[in-house]
Amino acid sequence: MKPDLFEAPDYYQIDDLLSDEHKLVRDATRQWVKREVSPIIEDFAQRAEFPKQLLSGLAEIGAFGPYIPEEYGGAGLDQISYGLIMQEIERGDSGIRSTASVQSSLVMYPIFAYGSEEQKKKYLPKLATGEMMGCFGLTEPNHGSNPGGMETRFKDMGDHYLLNGAKLWISNSPFADIAVVWAKNEEGRIHGLIVERGMDGFSTPETHNKWSLRASATGELIFSDVKVPKENLLPGKNGLGAPLGCLDSARYGIAWGAIGAAMDCYDTALRYAKERTQFGKPIAGFQLQQKKLAEMITEITKAQLLALRLGQLKNEGKATTAQISMAKRNNVDMAIKIAREARQMLGGMGITGEYSIMRHMMNLESVITYEGTHDIHLLITGADITGIQAFK
Ligand SMILES: Cc1cc2nc3c(=O)[nH]c(=O)nc-3n(C[C@H](O)[C@H](O)[C@H](O)COP(=O)(O)OP(=O)(O)OC[C@H]3O[C@@H](n4cnc5c(N)ncnc54)[C@H](O)[C@@H]3O)c2cc1C
Repeated sequence: MKPDLFEAPDYYQIDDLLSDEHKLVRDATRQWVKREVSPIIEDFAQRAEFPKQLLSGLAEIGAFGPYIPEEYGGAGLDQISYGLIMQEIERGDSGIRSTASVQSSLVMYPIFAYGSEEQKKKYLPKLATGEMMGCFGLTEPNHGSNPGGMETRFKDMGDHYLLNGAKLWISNSPFADIAVVWAKNEEGRIHGLIVERGMDGFSTPETHNKWSLRASATGELIFSDVKVPKENLLPGKNGLGAPLGCLDSARYGIAWGAIGAAMDCYDTALRYAKERTQFGKPIAGFQLQQKKLAEMITEITKAQLLALRLGQLKNEGKATTAQISMAKRNNVDMAIKIAREARQMLGGMGITGEYSIMRHMMNLESVITYEGTHDIHLLITGADITGIQAFK
């Protein structure tokens, strides 16, 4: 793979709107990605292997629970810093960002927001250092966009719960030490349970043959009469709103992350277009190529402003689920379109692993589907502005 020469576009001087802490956190993550991720990522993606050696570094840069308070081992940063960290990691690879998103928003967040004090003290500090890794089990073979239909169930057996069912498409499941699992009790109410690797009847087979997020480990969670201790139930919140609250946080991070992937594709295409000569001049000098680049920087700038304003709202506790849906949907769509255009600008070279674009493009096919598909987010906006649900 070519050396990482990335220079971040900032067409509207958005840096001026960031605090010194934001820029410090962002720049430290950017340097770490250049040093640790860029040199190895193509090889791991080609081999469809998750680079486990990055876990300690991710913890050191504060990517595990950036906004979790320091008393529980988190970095105690604000939501804009969290977003910038996700942006920079996804600039390297969406799969590595997925690992950090899951650990932060889908494992640490529910334990922090819905867990007991004992659960917070037991799990959060180890999750923050990466000593313990987690995954989040909501999607099932028969229930993706409609998680409320889930079939995974647990029964109260007096001194423990008995858990049965299966989850599919679970990021980090093949190596996770714990899983935050969403299941229905005998009354059909959804609760979160912390299931630990090693519990009898619990297995996590890996899903192979992915053409997307190849450097991220994805798998199943299978529960066959798993005895879950009663103290592993998250007591603070139940109902579908509990897992959806976690998704709000993860989708917010994705809205920023997608900007990273888009910036990398744009930056690569711009540099290539200035260097590559055809018909006696750089291809950047042809109107058709300039149109592509000009539209890319326009869309990236709009996405940056959307994410930043959403971050401000989130810091104030005012961001709504529908606002987060709009940003996730817009920014991922923007990124995948830029990846496709940028790939064409590199001609034949665009399909090789010499450049990051094709990997980003394939990764974004998962990002546009997970955490709510492109169409589901549109329906969330539609329901919000009309007051009428069009899901069913
Ligand atoms: C690589 C990867 C990692 C993932 N990681 C996780 C994870 O860590 N944890 C987890 O719980 N899940 C995870 N997922 C699952 C992901 O969230 C689901 O794939 C996603 O929610 C879509 O569900 P589905 O695949 O079952 O598609 P379906 O729900 O079957 O949807 C298929 C199509 O139908 C459309 N559709 C569905 N309902 C409607 C409707 N009412 N109106 C109009 N169109 C509709 C959808 O938009 C989509 O285009 C991951 C997925 C992938 C690919």
